[in-house]
Amino acid sequence: MIDPATMVNRPAQGRDCGSCTLCCKVYDVPAVGATAGNWCPNCQPGSGCKIYEVRPQQCRAFNCLWITQDFLGPDWKPDKARFVLTMDGTTRWIFVQVDPGAAQAWRKEPYYSQLKRWAAAGNRPVVVFVRKLAIAITTNGETTLGEIGADERLVLRNLPGGRQVVEKLRVGA
Ligand code: SF4
Ligand code: SF4
Repeated sequence: MIDPATMVNRPAQGRDCGSCTLCCKVYDVPAVGATAGNWCPNCQPGSGCKIYEVRPQQCRAFNCLWITQDFLGPDWKPDKARFVLTMDGTTRWIFVQVDPGAAQAWRKEPYYSQLKRWAAAGNRPVVVFVRKLAIAITTNGETTLGEIGADERLVLRNLPGGRQVVEKLRVGA
């Protein structure tokens, strides 16, 4: 399972990206004009980065959960699963950034059941993004949150009876 106490931001032994380049499609990388859901202009899909030696720090620092966590098997490799998993270093929420070309991939098995188990076991949300559109999975099920703006953040509210809800909060509001 995902154990936040043992999380590291470096590849696990024997793990490498191989032909996967999905993180170069699903995230904003402002330094090179890349927008979530579109291949970065510097990416050679399935091959690598054309500016690897001078790629931005955001790219240098990035490792997805499949790379760092060797308990995630081959089905979870991003170019097979069609989504990239990360965990926020502070909140420990799990994020699923989906390839818009396979927007329902996360609902397939073995993924969907496991995402729900992580939400329940960790008592923290799993948030699925397709571009900026978000769906939160909590112990109470799914909540469609819609598009998350650059000035918005997600917050978890614990309600009476042990229920949880994720809400959008405008920064500064
Ligand atoms: S998504 Fe993960 S495995 Fe794929 S290229 Fe990025 S870091 Fe490597
Ligand atoms: S600059 Fe290179 S490593 Fe960074 S997103 Fe673009 S292709 Fe990927």
